[in-house]
Amino acid sequence: LMGQMMQVPLLISSLLTHAARHSGDTEIVSKRVEGDLHRTTWAEVAVRARKVAQALARLGCQPGDRVGTLAWNGYRHLELYYGTSGSQLVCHTINPRLFPEQVAWIANDAADRVLCFDLNFLPLVEKLAPQLGKVEHFVLLAGRSHMPASTSLPGLLCYEELVEAETGDYAWPSFDENTASSICYTSGTTGHPKGAVYSHRSTVLHAYGAALPDAMACSARDVVLPVVPMFHVNAWGLPYATALVGCKVVMPGPHLDGKSLFELFEQEKVTFSAGVPTVWLGLLTYMQQNGLKFSTFKRTVIGGSACPPAMLRTLEDDYGVEVIHAWGMTEMSPLGTLAKLKSKHDVLDAVSRRRILEKQGKGICGVDMEIVDDERRPLPWDGRSAGNLVVRGHWVIDHYFQTEASPLIEVPGRDGLWFPTGDVASIDADGYMQITDRSKDVIKSGGEWISSIDLENIAVAHPAVHEAAVIACAHPKWDERPLLVVVKKPGAEVTREELLAFFGGRIAKWQIPDDVAFVDELPHTATGKLQKLKLREQFKDHKLP
Ligand code: ADP
Repeated sequence: LMGQMMQVPLLISSLLTHAARHSGDTEIVSKRVEGDLHRTTWAEVAVRARKVAQALARLGCQPGDRVGTLAWNGYRHLELYYGTSGSQLVCHTINPRLFPEQVAWIANDAADRVLCFDLNFLPLVEKLAPQLGKVEHFVLLAGRSHMPASTSLPGLLCYEELVEAETGDYAWPSFDENTASSICYTSGTTGHPKGAVYSHRSTVLHAYGAALPDAMACSARDVVLPVVPMFHVNAWGLPYATALVGCKVVMPGPHLDGKSLFELFEQEKVTFSAGVPTVWLGLLTYMQQNGLKFSTFKRTVIGGSACPPAMLRTLEDDYGVEVIHAWGMTEMSPLGTLAKLKSKHDVLDAVSRRRILEKQGKGICGVDMEIVDDERRPLPWDGRSAGNLVVRGHWVIDHYFQTEASPLIEVPGRDGLWFPTGDVASIDADGYMQITDRSKDVIKSGGEWISSIDLENIAVAHPAVHEAAVIACAHPKWDERPLLVVVKKPGAEVTREELLAFFGGRIAKWQIPDDVAFVDELPHTATGKLQKLKLREQFKDHKLP
């Protein structure tokens, strides 16, 4: 017997239509590249997204064509998200923090026909244009008054003019929910970046998963400020989840420094946010220096890299902000796990509760996980056994864009194929997953594994440490030994001996780093992660004592 329910495809346009109809007057506030604060509503975004669809069709875009964006978080980027995907085009968000050659490589690989970009990326696009052979139209995301008097870009178009020329009298088409909706490239620490092609179905299901109470718990009552950029795995799904619940959204544009963010949080009464640890580092430093407190901000998701327990503690104890530690990756749209307590944890003391919240969290229904050994045999969920983390689910990729070879693997005794994440993790009996390391960052000392994340978490709890990275250094006897690389807080002093002594009693003796190197700055990837490859290169000749 088949189910006898309507077949309504899961389409991204339905999220916007819902937001416009049920929360039409709810605001979308954007700090623009131009410097001012812009206010619009879900209803207005829906009208303009339809005009974007009309304008792109007028430029000759056909279903399946890719439209590239080089843009910060803002209402125009949101209109493009919906205007492209809703009309069966594919939204290709490009990370502008990548090396220029990589930006060009990605735009060419995706064969973007149109490239839409913010005002401050004009010089970059002008420089790259000769390499962007497949781009037929360049669109500046600005009004007429901000169009450059002269530019080397052929036939540069003005976004506001394109939108104004359309009627908005357009019905979102219906099509197969498995149609491609957007593409994100992984930052690719080795080789070329690889494209993850999301579908309407995966994106809508991910939005439902993201909004669940034990995930991001988004509600119409929230004011959401996505600090995580819309070019970083679709701002972790927030442009969709916020439409699904119809809440107010505050977009920070390029203004991600502590002062700008704090002022925006306060002025717009933000309740919920999401971002990588580095961003919170900047915000907290600014607030500490100026003795500031939040008045409305209640919860934040932190992920993309491990959230150091010290940061979790500071946000909760000193600022009253609940931290939801989350893990995911580009290949997973990106949400995999989030750390929220179960009611049985209410009886635990504060320290034990926090120990659970420091983990990367429980899988959302829709993503299944296993940890496997090197023979791919599943390991027990005992909170101790660590293995390679594999996943499968509605919003996990099947294969990469334009590649034949499947990245998926079989797991003996488990159904289906699994995506190997490249992370090493343990899972406890309650299903809480904890990342030990990325498999390539684990330090292999005398056949035992040392987690670089554990060591970094201890180092950043030292009052003089601003940021820390631990990398493997070659060692004649042990193969590899940990080297701690530290950026000190401004004005703070600490010696190598003091730092190494700080590890005593906090971790097994044999795991304590062998040496400390002080640097002014640590290298980060375009998505704000520590660039350990570069660091390993920098310290490859480092002589351990
Ligand atoms: P890329 O893989 O291109 O660097 P992603 O955003 O896809 O960018 O990164 C995914 C990886 O980031 C994960 O596989 C994991 O190694 C790391 N990561 C993400 N969130 C966390 C977290 N909460 N704790 C530790 N590592 C994390």
